[in-house]
Amino acid sequence: MTNIQEKPIELDGSQGEGGGQILRTGLALSVATGQPLAIEKIRAGRAKPGLMRQHLACVNAAAAISGAQVEGAELGSQSLRFTPGAVRAGEYRFAISGAGSCMLVLQTVLPPLLLAGAQSRVHLSGGTHNPMAPPFHFLERAFAPLVRRLGADLQLTLRRCGFYPAGGGEVEAVVVPAAGPLQPFDLIARGAHRAGHAECLAPGLPRHVPTRELDTLGGAMGWSGEQLRLGAVRQNEGPGNALMATLAYEHVTEVFTAFGEKSMSAEQVAHGLARELRAFQKSEAAVGPHLADQLALLQALAAWQGRKACAFTCSEVTEHTRTNCAVIERFLPVRFAIAEGGDACRVQVAPA
Ligand code: ATP
Repeated sequence: MTNIQEKPIELDGSQGEGGGQILRTGLALSVATGQPLAIEKIRAGRAKPGLMRQHLACVNAAAAISGAQVEGAELGSQSLRFTPGAVRAGEYRFAISGAGSCMLVLQTVLPPLLLAGAQSRVHLSGGTHNPMAPPFHFLERAFAPLVRRLGADLQLTLRRCGFYPAGGGEVEAVVVPAAGPLQPFDLIARGAHRAGHAECLAPGLPRHVPTRELDTLGGAMGWSGEQLRLGAVRQNEGPGNALMATLAYEHVTEVFTAFGEKSMSAEQVAHGLARELRAFQKSEAAVGPHLADQLALLQALAAWQGRKACAFTCSEVTEHTRTNCAVIERFLPVRFAIAEGGDACRVQVAPA
């Protein structure tokens, strides 16, 4: 990828939602476009600002695939200068000690690796099912099929689950760039409902916990016993508790996840997830709020490369999505147009 400009793109880490996504999207697009990044006030909107272990892992991973020069990559640092070299496809191992989400490390390196000249194999270890991060099954079932629609490929294998606080999960990702430019595609309608099911991963917890969660969710959604599954887990993976619901439609599959907490009953966890599912089903949108902010980046890359506008509909445009779109516009010559209201919000991205 050629440099669009040499002067660093300056990001304010306190803008909008003020979280780790500004850093990750900034790193991903800095490497993808070759533009240096300077970011201040990293995660200023969070209770413990600055780089935490998982953010540092993202910085180091982005540096590893691009031979970047980096200043300020320390725990707690609120400012970073990152000057990437050319992205290199290859075999990489990125480990987060503890339970930080290794799925967020993948989120950081995926966009540039999708634009690299050859296939990459990325071994990740850390948390695979973390609150406030894309769970493995969401990436596998909801996100990866959208990567394929760009003409590229993402194959994900879960070798072991990792939950807070122990971590130790293992994932392998094979990233195959498209043969030509990424292809823009529209995702306006979800299409006909095909199937729905729920599964609960609850290693290290008594069996009545996942069973109650599944029964309560099944009751709220009108799902039969065959649609409720106890997920397969290995010894010593826990304790963890991820209740996941997968909704498959003609044009898209969505995955919604609720995490159990000590302060919540199994029934509360299930009712919380049922509310999320109903809100999505009630809208006519193609994707939910999390898939929306992750799809915005994919579509922006495709609009840039394919020189053609594309759009999707989502049930809600969160502050997180808006912030992500604003960061994307700083790096890529694209503009977003967001229309809210009615039964779905529409997000369009067009070459500037
Ligand atoms: P911070 O570090 O500042 O606390 P963060 O680094 O955890 O924040 P966020 O800014 O909250 O990052 O972004 C989390 C990412 O995880 C976003 O891409 C969001 O879409 C995704 N995400 C969070 N929860 C889910 C979920 N249940 N399913 C799918 N994706 C999710």
